[in-house]
Amino acid sequence: MCVVGLGLIGGSLMRAAAGAGREVFGYNRSMEAVAAARFDGFDATENLDEALGRAADRDALIVVAVPMPALPQILAHVKQSAPLCPLTDVISVKGAVLDEVRRADLLPNFVGGHPMAGTAHSGWSAGDAALFTGAPWVVSVDDHVDARVWSLVTQLALDCHAVVVPARSDEHDAAAAAISHLPHLFAETLALMAGEVPLAFALAAGSFRDGTRVAATAPHLVRAMCEANADQLLPTLERGIELLTRAKDVLAATGSVADLVDTGHAARMRYDSFSRPEIMTTVVGTDNWRAELAAAGRAGGVIRSALPVLGNQG
Ligand code: NAD
Repeated sequence: MCVVGLGLIGGSLMRAAAGAGREVFGYNRSMEAVAAARFDGFDATENLDEALGRAADRDALIVVAVPMPALPQILAHVKQSAPLCPLTDVISVKGAVLDEVRRADLLPNFVGGHPMAGTAHSGWSAGDAALFTGAPWVVSVDDHVDARVWSLVTQLALDCHAVVVPARSDEHDAAAAAISHLPHLFAETLALMAGEVPLAFALAAGSFRDGTRVAATAPHLVRAMCEANADQLLPTLERGIELLTRAKDVLAATGSVADLVDTGHAARMRYDSFSRPEIMTTVVGTDNWRAELAAAGRAGGVIRSALPVLGNQG
């Protein structure tokens, strides 16, 4: 497989895939990162077309692991040098990626992906082979997806010890707005507000650290995911502001924040007891397999080992 972009996620992927015994090579635009990857024993180049040409020769799975704004340029190279290779990505938004892949005329061999794992650090040196262990990895089941490419991407996620959550791109983006993009904006808000209060940093402990952890992420990465998911983030943000405004009004009128605290606590308890049944019965490639997997993913189902593929059984 060929990893394009050897930062935190691409670099972790390269390490995890190599650890699983896969042949993996990669591209990074900076000579420093390429030198560091080579020093660590990995096969890396700063020549994108060379990496993609090699992928084309071997029909390698190409994994795009760059920020969203760099995607169109990378896809143009893929279209030119490796248009028939199976293709996936790890970008934190899925609808906008799908639009770009369609624009680049690469849709038939593309299956979107998003490992729900990360840290606030960037670059090759931040990578960790164990980053994806136990993490949900969304593998998209949009209407166009091909069963063979879907199985290749799913196998990659399983090789990295992730659990696969099948989901449609639009549903992924609505959920990501709620559990990732809005928390990023709240974290920035909390950090900013504490910075305005004398003594706040001096007193800050666990609650502040946990609530603002993601505000340490590189701003360009946060902007890339929030802005590319604006359609889903705007109504989510609206809802958050509505809840806070109501809490403020009720606090002013009655002196109580019970409504928000009780309902928030109940939702968090539901998350703690949320079950993740294993998806085992779907045969990939049969009639309706994508809709079946989307429904199972929506219900909390996860794939922990490869599903059978039509025509590959027995
Ligand atoms: P990173 O900054 O660590 O790595 C980004 C990589 O992209 C680097 O190798 C950089 O050289 C390369 N890159 C950037 N612009 C480029 C350009 N114009 N041309 C060629 N290469 C370019 O970031 P990351 O955290 O690894 O994020 C990579 C992708 O993974 C992003 O799309 C992000 O949304 C997604 N993602 C991030 C996290 C997270 O927690 N950080 C989690 C899941 C998915």
